[in-house]
Amino acid sequence: MSLAARARRHLIAPAALAVAATLVAPVTAPAHAGHDRPPGKRPVATGYGGAVATVDLDASRTAIEVLRNGGNAMDAAVAAGATLGVTEPYVAAIGGGGYMTYYDAKRRKVYTVDGRETAPRAMRADSFVDPATGRAIPFDQAVTSGLSVGVPGTLAQWDTALRRFGTRDLGTLLRPAIRVAERGFTVDREFHDQTAVNAERFADIVPTRELFLPGGRPPAVGSTFRNPDLARTYRELARRGPGWLYGGGLGREVVRTVREPGVDPDAGRNVRPGLMKDGDLGAYRSRTPEPTRVSYRGLDVYGMPPSSSGGSTVGQVLNMLGNFELDAKDPVQALHYYLEASKFAYADRGRYVGDPDQVDVPLKELLSKGFARERACLIDPARAAAAPVAPGSPDGGYDPCAPAKGGAEALKYEGPQTTHLVVADKWGNVVAYNVTIEQFGGSGLTVPGRGFLLNNELTDFTLQPPAPGAAPDPNLPGPGKRPRSSMAPTLVLEDGRPKLALGTPGGSTIITTVLQILLNRIDLGMDLPAALAAPRATQRNTPQVFAEQAFIDRYGAALAGKGHDVALFAGPPRGVIGAATGLEFLRPGLVQAVAEPERRGGGSALVVRPRR
Ligand code: GLU
Repeated sequence: MSLAARARRHLIAPAALAVAATLVAPVTAPAHAGHDRPPGKRPVATGYGGAVATVDLDASRTAIEVLRNGGNAMDAAVAAGATLGVTEPYVAAIGGGGYMTYYDAKRRKVYTVDGRETAPRAMRADSFVDPATGRAIPFDQAVTSGLSVGVPGTLAQWDTALRRFGTRDLGTLLRPAIRVAERGFTVDREFHDQTAVNAERFADIVPTRELFLPGGRPPAVGSTFRNPDLARTYRELARRGPGWLYGGGLGREVVRTVREPGVDPDAGRNVRPGLMKDGDLGAYRSRTPEPTRVSYRGLDVYGMPPSSSGGSTVGQVLNMLGNFELDAKDPVQALHYYLEASKFAYADRGRYVGDPDQVDVPLKELLSKGFARERACLIDPARAAAAPVAPGSPDGGYDPCAPAKGGAEALKYEGPQTTHLVVADKWGNVVAYNVTIEQFGGSGLTVPGRGFLLNNELTDFTLQPPAPGAAPDPNLPGPGKRPRSSMAPTLVLEDGRPKLALGTPGGSTIITTVLQILLNRIDLGMDLPAALAAPRATQRNTPQVFAEQAFIDRYGAALAGKGHDVALFAGPPRGVIGAATGLEFLRPGLVQAVAEPERRGGGSALVVRPRR
């Protein structure tokens, strides 16, 4: 049964069946001018033999090259991730971590690979607190510091992913990235701007300045950027394997960088050293936890379990939305339910989700239909609740409509954005993969002579321990602990077969962007390109809804009528939420890959063959 037919059967009341026409012939995305775009860089590609969508043409080409050479989706995802480490060094690198969901066509099963960074074993709940003030150090100081650097998980994740699901060795898959690093790539507006927003702090850190500010300035648009250091690092990695980082010489260099960050003494910048020791790298392990799963309108939606809050929060909101009829003819009402369900689910996320190896996460209850019903009951169809709202009690005993108990918590600041990619192969394997160093430019610390930045992922922890008597926080720093993420690489199955794969960067807006795309696609009658392009809004249990300008223009007044205070999303980048990628199986073998048409300069979708 098609997605549209399912939506009709599961959702639309008989009286509203007239809406079927819009679901069968979905709204399509507007044509885009494609300004500044290199030839071949397109946001949508439809065809056979495999498909990819990333933010970057070189990375997408890498994936296609691997698929053409007989590699599978996991091989291609790892190779594309390595190329993003070259062309998108401010968002993705072996100095960071990430999460993957994977559909294995042979086993007909969804798996995950967790490459989240961990805190060093010397880290404590108050490690970010300045003893002089008793308060957490200012957030921007935490970002540019050794203290924020988590033990990088990406290489261990690639190793696990390739051993379990891949067909090629890492050395082979690093080759395209090495080529790009050596030959260089053309600097576009996006790369220039991402360098420019980081230029001030990069200038203060000698190895970072030398690498990313040649001649003291961000590289000019149209110039060629090479990274021979990273090419050498990848070559060495190909030879020595991930053990070079985890317990070997590269690991020692990472630790030295974290402890002595290479700050220009004339800069006067206070860059706090980190707590990482050599043994922390050797102790790192990637994980392969069971994915989260919820059913929604007859589809199965799989996501990333804790330490990410992606799967649990996307799942909880979908469970809550399942209690309402969403009508494509009344998008304002549908958006009202989406915003309100997100508001309540974010309260629960903040209170209950952290690293499951160190805190008790009531995952099963957070994803139960009973809890969702109890929470959905608090949603007034006509009126937005005052935010922040208090968390509920996912305790297994559910009233039809339990009032929230306890105090409401404000959303804690979480940094902005990195990247996400999707790949499918001709066998029907699918990967959705967030790879990240936490925010544009990560910690700003480059490992000298190695060509890559280290993450600032530990700023995803709550840096300030709660006051005595306040509700406990599951996301305080701790030894070896993974900071809570929002990353939500998501796979949707229909009748046990992959239908959609999607994800996005965007810090804590990741969850709402994934939800909004699902809502657009499944409930509001849009095709996937339109669902991705549509203007976005995010409600994360804050007094205001933050939105893109186009969203405000289209829905702001109508939502204000229901009590939503809709304001422009402050970014960074200002006014832009996320940079999503996705793909859809249109029919067996035929895949449509979709990237952003405009946000962050537009992404790149490619297929192996446009025709059968
Ligand atoms: N550090 C963010 C998180 O784990 C992700 C950054 C991003 O990719 O936007 O939620």
